[in-house]
Amino acid sequence: MPARTKVTPPPPPLTEPVEDYLKAIYELETRNGAAGTSEVAQALRVAPASVTGMIRRLAVQGFLDHVPYRGVQLTPLGRRAALRTIRRHRILETYLTRVLGYAWDGVHDEAERLEHAASDDLIERMAAALGHPTADPHGAPIPTADGVVDERAHRTLADLAVGDTVCMVRVSDKDPALLRYLAEIALQPGAVITLVARAPFDGPLTLRMGSREAVVGPNLAAQVLIDAMPVSLASTTMAVRPAAPAAETGTRAASTTAGSTPRSRARKSSR
Ligand SMILES: [Zn+2]
Repeated sequence: MPARTKVTPPPPPLTEPVEDYLKAIYELETRNGAAGTSEVAQALRVAPASVTGMIRRLAVQGFLDHVPYRGVQLTPLGRRAALRTIRRHRILETYLTRVLGYAWDGVHDEAERLEHAASDDLIERMAAALGHPTADPHGAPIPTADGVVDERAHRTLADLAVGDTVCMVRVSDKDPALLRYLAEIALQPGAVITLVARAPFDGPLTLRMGSREAVVGPNLAAQVLIDAMPVSLASTTMAVRPAAPAAETGTRAASTTAGSTPRSRARKSSR
């Protein structure tokens, strides 16, 4: 086969394993800058030996470049193909929750299957019926049909200082039990969250969401991605917030004193 044919866009229809590989490599690359063979094997639950063979074929077809000592990275062609599958996955998840009433912890496995089977026409009709959503039910950005996606890095709840109020944007869709628990304690994309207290030495965090409070461990907190509050909402929350500290228990007051936050909050409000 002449080597030049490999750069011809758009990508031909891909097999299900190829789509899964490119998607897994895209996710690893977004997190780590490159994807190593063993990481790909782990993500796809296959033997490292079969990963090596597939990676060689994908490189020959122009989807991947090798990065010395680090693994592989997607070429523009590979990235385009990966984002196409990711768009399909995320639109399917959004459709299943919003239109068909699935819970947010029950859509990932369905979307894993359907993303390979649904036609482009069906996916675009679903996107149109949904009003062209920009994020899926877990807050993951939906790439456009042209392959543009907002993959900005986000802080997590674990990065907050006591007194900070933020907006939840995203959580991984891969652990249904975690998603069910988050829904139980009202932690879902769009939730407005204030860090009320943080126990010292990497202890639990006390969160307030509206009138509800929840205590979560640092490991869970590190999985919840957050963003600064939109300015329009920030002023409302600021007005409501001062009522709460009076209700603090002795224990919680002690733990906030252990962190340096009451001082930093005072500094902030004096500006
Ligand atoms: Zn999913």
